[in-house]
Amino acid sequence: MKIDRRQFAGMLSAAAALGVAKRGAASVSSQQPLFVATWNFGLPACKQSLETLNKTKSILDAIEMGIRVAEADTSVDSVGVGGAPNANGVVQLDACFMDGETHKAGSVAALENYPHPISVARRVMEKTKHVLLVGAGAADFAKKQGFEAQDILTSEQKKKWEKWLADQAKAAKAADNVAPPNHDTIALVGMDATGHIAGGCSTSGLAYKMPGRVGDSPILGSGLYVDGEIGAAGATGIGENVMRYCGSFLIVEFMRSGMEPTAACRAAIERIAKTEKKKPADLHINFLAIDKKGRWGSAGTDEGYEIAVVTPESARLEKPFLVV
Ligand code: ASP
Repeated sequence: MKIDRRQFAGMLSAAAALGVAKRGAASVSSQQPLFVATWNFGLPACKQSLETLNKTKSILDAIEMGIRVAEADTSVDSVGVGGAPNANGVVQLDACFMDGETHKAGSVAALENYPHPISVARRVMEKTKHVLLVGAGAADFAKKQGFEAQDILTSEQKKKWEKWLADQAKAAKAADNVAPPNHDTIALVGMDATGHIAGGCSTSGLAYKMPGRVGDSPILGSGLYVDGEIGAAGATGIGENVMRYCGSFLIVEFMRSGMEPTAACRAAIERIAKTEKKKPADLHINFLAIDKKGRWGSAGTDEGYEIAVVTPESARLEKPFLVV
């Protein structure tokens, strides 16, 4: 069959729409476990997930224990202990946990003084009839569940916050803008060898956020979504740009309609950018996804965004598809 230039160009764009992307996509056999997480600190987290899965055979334990690694690492300045505080100097953590098989989920938002919000979120799922607990109620629940409270503002983060406060005052005087603060969330999704999918997400949110501000991370469908029949997606970046579009839900629905994970992540970003009438790079939104076939993929608008991919055969960082 002879193919003319127009047909060939059409085939290329169809391939692009289906997500035949060069970077940020691949597949593993659905017979082997797969863990994918945002950012480079997702790598030790995913390794822990695989180790836990091997030990307990529970994908839920694997997700929780993986995310706890990032939460416990004080060098990760956007998750758990060592996370950045809000504008009042108080660390308020957000997390969510979702099981694709039962479609059950739990979340906590603006949780203070508990270093492992992912574990509290899992308990919300397992021990209550509710999905989301916030603030003092979430802390009270954590206490009743036997979690130990501790001061999670590190002296390093306190110093940075004090400098930020001083810079704010200077900037106000100079009527200048202060550079936007750091942000990074761990979203970790995984599947065991039987095809059981689950995921979790944990963050201190945007650094120096308005007290009480909650981003996309603990909001199901925004920072995380898992559908046991289709796959899972997670997000990191400016939550406000994700949650108004239910970003992770959108990606899972794109996969339901036949897109592979990277194509679905790209399509979500393109949809958001088009509606916002903004360049993708100005949105600071980054996604990852896995599907039931064992394929993983990712796309983002931030040059520095990377994801961790761990299987029994390899553990590595990958560069997501950059949407420009
Ligand atoms: N999405 C998080 C939030 O908006 C922050 C991040 O991932 O960078 O709270």
